[in-house]
Amino acid sequence: MRGPPIHVTCDCGAERDLRYGEKWQCEQCGRTWNTEQIPAGEYEGLVSELRRLRVGAMLVAGIAVATVLLLAYFVSPGYLFIGPVILALAAMLLGPLWKKRVRRIVAERPRWELHPE
Ligand SMILES: [Zn+2]
Repeated sequence: MRGPPIHVTCDCGAERDLRYGEKWQCEQCGRTWNTEQIPAGEYEGLVSELRRLRVGAMLVAGIAVATVLLLAYFVSPGYLFIGPVILALAAMLLGPLWKKRVRRIVAERPRWELHPE
């Protein structure tokens, strides 16, 4: 399962970013932390939410490019020149909105209490 790294903070203060399913033995105090203690369903929910956002953005970009190509083909080749400008403007307007949504999801991501093994 691929997804955002899981930030683990050891009881002794050491920190490490792990992948889901990874174990980490703290170098400082020897505690072992196992990210598999996180319920797979909860982590999967976060992963699929981020994936949905990414797919959505790609879909919007694809539709926009297709629209420009169709306009250029059926209406006027001039759209090939105006199209990229419109797309760039749209990206500048929508980009920050999209980034804000991703940031919010990451900021509100669930926190889990792990127990050393
Ligand atoms: Zn430690």
